[in-house]
Amino acid sequence: MRRKLFLVLVFVFALGTNTLCFETLPFLWHVHTQGWSDGSSTVTEVAKNARSGGMKGVFYSDHSDMHISDHSDSFWWYQKETQQFNQEGAFIVLTGREITIGSAKGSNHHLNAYSENSTPYLFNPNLTLDQVLKKVISDEDGFAVYNHPHTSLLWCDQVNKFSGIEIFNEYHTTFDMNCYLKALKKGWRGFVVGGMDLHSMLYPNAWLNVKTYIFPDQFTKQSTIEAIKNGKTIATRGVWGVYVSYPPSSFNQPMNKLQIIIKLKEGLGNVTKKITVNIYKNGNLHKKITAQPSPKQKGVYAVEVMPKESGCYVFEMVGYLVTSPYCY
Ligand SMILES: [Zn+2]
Repeated sequence: MRRKLFLVLVFVFALGTNTLCFETLPFLWHVHTQGWSDGSSTVTEVAKNARSGGMKGVFYSDHSDMHISDHSDSFWWYQKETQQFNQEGAFIVLTGREITIGSAKGSNHHLNAYSENSTPYLFNPNLTLDQVLKKVISDEDGFAVYNHPHTSLLWCDQVNKFSGIEIFNEYHTTFDMNCYLKALKKGWRGFVVGGMDLHSMLYPNAWLNVKTYIFPDQFTKQSTIEAIKNGKTIATRGVWGVYVSYPPSSFNQPMNKLQIIIKLKEGLGNVTKKITVNIYKNGNLHKKITAQPSPKQKGVYAVEVMPKESGCYVFEMVGYLVTSPYCY
């Protein structure tokens, strides 16, 4: 039964290569809406447009120090409104929240939190980062993501306390990537996300540009949450399809050959140029290679890597994709 569900989830692709590849699920991550915080589209508009745009899920993360904390049962209503769009096997909706640390006004120190709790921690200007992380990760058994690291420079030395880190955002900086590498060097093994930080669907060329690709064993909410916690995520920007050469369930098997294939959208940017690929081992640059566009399919790039020594590897297709660490 498990096997069957798995096969329904992942479509096997060949994409003009000899290796079988498994499609990963694109998620619109870090979303603000009208009514619950400072977004300009409603929960319904975002869900419908994301779904018709090919997304397989949304991570809603309205500011929990804004309308969500207006009433004691607000989060319950927020969950109810967003969860009506969750459809197992078709479209996964995660109801998270973006927590501000420190004073509400003008603080850009944010983390995205997720837990199954219907009355989770929302906001208290007096709590420190450590106290909030304890509430989300330990007390609520959830996860917490270090959002847009370049707005909270000091947290860069404390990445080990978070479950994940946001690599791409509306405002992309090299600081975010460097902060991730710094944490990897110190032994951190969390996950990456590409957060759209969506406030409006009207940004020119930006709608659905930044995504988080997730590869759960099954196309369900529970399995998706497990996958995120286990680092089965890839952060992307300007990418319209990510495929990996091994099935999601074999993540912990030794890899003698990993292939990552990405598709760039035709008509958006230059889809015939070469892409630099950096391979990091335990946070240090291990190898630099070049991905060539497929001669058969416009905008398709395949990278094949066969690391021989054990370690934790991160793959970066510069400007387009960053993976969570693959350790073996
Ligand atoms: Zn934020």
